[in-house]
Amino acid sequence: MRIVKGIFDKCIIIFGALFLLSCITGVCLAAQQKLQVLTSTADLKSIAEFIGADKVEVASIAVGYQDPHFVEAKPSYMLKARNAELFIKIGMDLELGWENLILEGARNSKILVGTIGHLDASSGIEKLDVPLGSVDRSMGDIHPMGNPHYWLDPLNAKIIAENIAVRLSLILPQAESYFRQNLLEFNKKIDRKMIEWKAKLGPFKGQSIAIYHRSWTYFTNRFGLNVACSLEPKPGIPPSPGHLKQVIEIIKQKGIKAILMEVFYDEKPARFVAGQTGAKVVIVPNSVGGTKEAQDYFSLIDTIVERLVLGMQP
Ligand SMILES: [Zn+2]
Repeated sequence: MRIVKGIFDKCIIIFGALFLLSCITGVCLAAQQKLQVLTSTADLKSIAEFIGADKVEVASIAVGYQDPHFVEAKPSYMLKARNAELFIKIGMDLELGWENLILEGARNSKILVGTIGHLDASSGIEKLDVPLGSVDRSMGDIHPMGNPHYWLDPLNAKIIAENIAVRLSLILPQAESYFRQNLLEFNKKIDRKMIEWKAKLGPFKGQSIAIYHRSWTYFTNRFGLNVACSLEPKPGIPPSPGHLKQVIEIIKQKGIKAILMEVFYDEKPARFVAGQTGAKVVIVPNSVGGTKEAQDYFSLIDTIVERLVLGMQP
């Protein structure tokens, strides 16, 4: 009897162990079954998570409080890119300085340019600030293909979301209706929030602001504001005393109330100009995660709108 009980106990232990192992393997398999997506910026990650939801696992290379033009191509990003099945970028040369280093270092043929696993989210976007002649990047202008900060117009976020939904559907055709439904929800939420954002910025329609970097063209166009001047003489060229003198003149002439700038730029030139003119420095995130309030794409625009409204008030 004792021998039988001993065998019975051992069986329970073995079955228990097998059950536990199958659970762990199951959890791992469930994680692996999610499509591995890598985005260049946190905004693309936020939108891809909304559209892909349960079917994807998304990582971003740049974090929101970094200047997206200048991201260090760390080996850890190459490791992330090695296992990715879809890479999504802003394009328009935003990632020019770091994309190739990461993609080459990853040695992952699935996400190279021209493959189904490589998505340029700028497809279908109406591009602004496109230079008329040829622009030599060696002269310091980091917007040679036009202004790449198009994600700051919420209606462009709909185009990005559609591009992502279409590409996810190509990779996972069995989940197409799921991605389409999520796209519909995303677009509805943008439409609802647009009413709110327009109502908040409406009283300032037609007013001019000063900016640090030329990243606000899409945002200001959408909400009927004007950019009168930027502290950088050209995108990527730091403010010089001579240029700031001109900026101060413009701000005084036009009675500009707000100098809009991103969290990662040097505040000193803006504070100097503010001291000379009485304008307020409005520091905002331009990407998800740029400040703690900007948790996803919607709260990013919420944060920008709220801070700008405070800055533009008389
Ligand atoms: Zn830029």
